[in-house]
Amino acid sequence: MLYCKKCRRVFESDTCPTCGRSGRQSASDDICFLVEKEAVWAGMLTDVLQQEGLPFLKESTLGAGVTARAGFMMESYRFYVRCEDLSRAQEIVKELFASKDS
Ligand SMILES: [Zn+2]
Repeated sequence: MLYCKKCRRVFESDTCPTCGRSGRQSASDDICFLVEKEAVWAGMLTDVLQQEGLPFLKESTLGAGVTARAGFMMESYRFYVRCEDLSRAQEIVKELFASKDS
């Protein structure tokens, strides 16, 4: 698997499917994008990942570049895990959101 440092994603192809850069070989402690979830689901996922003892990073998408629009704003979070935990984390996400995903 190759890894794009900019997008923090792993992929099978030669170049990053997100930004088109060429990746480097992924290392087990690289930080990999897992999933993006709205706040309510993000809270649930946080609980489960903590229960599983799986280290992760959670990043709000309401950072720079996201301007507040009129009305209700739905905050969401991006989750990142270490590459070596990615497949396990993906399984957790799959089970957790199998029947709830929109
Ligand atoms: Zn990329």
